[in-house]
Amino acid sequence: MTTSLTQRDRQVIWHPYTQHKGFLPPIPVVKGKGSLLFDDEGNAYIDAISSWWVNIHGHAHPYIAEKLYQQALRLEHVIFTGFTHEPAVALAERLLPLLPGDFSRVFYSDNGSTAVEVAIKMAIQYWSNQADTGPSASGALRARPGGRNKVLAFHHSYHGDTFGAMSVSERSVFTDAFREYLFEPVFIDTPSLENLDELLSFLRLRGKEFAGIIYEPLLQGAGGMRMYDAASLDRFLSAAAGQGILCIADEVLTGFGRTGKLFAGEYLQHKADIICLSKGLTGGTMALGVTATTERIFEAFLSDDKRKTLFHGHSFTANPLACTAALASLDLLEEGRRGISYISGRHARFLETLPSYPIVRNARALGTILAFEINTGRDEYINAIAPVITRDALAAGIYLRPLGSTVYFMPPYCITEKEMDQVYDFLVHCLVQYAEQPVT
Ligand SMILES: *Cc1c(COP(=O)(O)O)cnc(C)c1O
Repeated sequence: MTTSLTQRDRQVIWHPYTQHKGFLPPIPVVKGKGSLLFDDEGNAYIDAISSWWVNIHGHAHPYIAEKLYQQALRLEHVIFTGFTHEPAVALAERLLPLLPGDFSRVFYSDNGSTAVEVAIKMAIQYWSNQADTGPSASGALRARPGGRNKVLAFHHSYHGDTFGAMSVSERSVFTDAFREYLFEPVFIDTPSLENLDELLSFLRLRGKEFAGIIYEPLLQGAGGMRMYDAASLDRFLSAAAGQGILCIADEVLTGFGRTGKLFAGEYLQHKADIICLSKGLTGGTMALGVTATTERIFEAFLSDDKRKTLFHGHSFTANPLACTAALASLDLLEEGRRGISYISGRHARFLETLPSYPIVRNARALGTILAFEINTGRDEYINAIAPVITRDALAAGIYLRPLGSTVYFMPPYCITEKEMDQVYDFLVHCLVQYAEQPVT
């Protein structure tokens, strides 16, 4: 008898964010097509969270697959210092004019967290590179002008799981074990009509302490799909920039159409100095991160003094296959735009029906993302709800993975009308059933 994949997995794999004690065996997925994932018994599941927000054109897209195959036959990888290649240059050329701002340089890395690490390092070194050129007694560059040695970040933010990215993310059970090893940014509330004046006076008072601010524009994803006011953010960012603070837009989640526009930055007048991209960048096919900057930042690293170099890189920087997948994904985005507006329209209509369910709190939608909290006012219920919804959804042929009590629906842009109906019907079924029969 052959050992099942689940049994083999149990022997050798350590899964992400997974407590392996008492964990439910993972589902062996053997193929994907469009919005659907198929398990080894032929069951289909609608991927209602786009496989952790990465997949935008559906699974195993034949166009991307063909481009990847052709590229793999030509050049699979090459070191990216001292060498360059067509997919990396073509992707930068194609991406830069699409980005919301005056971006002129692309730095490649492997994922969202590394894109954030690079951005933070750029912002901090931007300031230290402006210091007097002569070395100090210790040989290190002199202190940053104006003592800009802090980073600003928002409460409830999530920027990734590596140490720098964790440092600028909200402290939580995810970061508890590492608390004393993280650098401390100053955390402030996301701007709103209520707190804007207070935040602006904070900037006037302390703005010059900060090298940069990192933020997820309009939508804090992992922090609970929290949507916040574009106009207030805009005013806050302009004021921050007025104090010389570099603005780092983390569009790892919001990029490539998720919020209805190609980038969330398009909802803002103020343009960021640095932007981080990943997730949808390759259509969810391959791991790739981009940190794009303005020429002003790039120029701060140009020097005869070698110490002003950005000393950062990864073995797989600008991997030609990943860049090819990203180029193919951009080709498909024209078609994707139709899906984006279709999903956005349906979410908006479904949203209107949600207040009629007593256990729904704070229903909201932004582009292709619909979210709400389920609440009966009892804490144990809140804690119990996420795994129950995931389990019940799987039984209904849908993959959903709530964040605590926050349920959200974020499909690939190719999802069909029927599949959308199926997910909405399931959500309604939950709202009725869990209200009658609270989960224990
Ligand atoms: C997912 C995410 C990251 C981290 O990306 P990884 O590829 O998982 O490292 C960073 N920022 C935001 C806003 C994200 O949603």
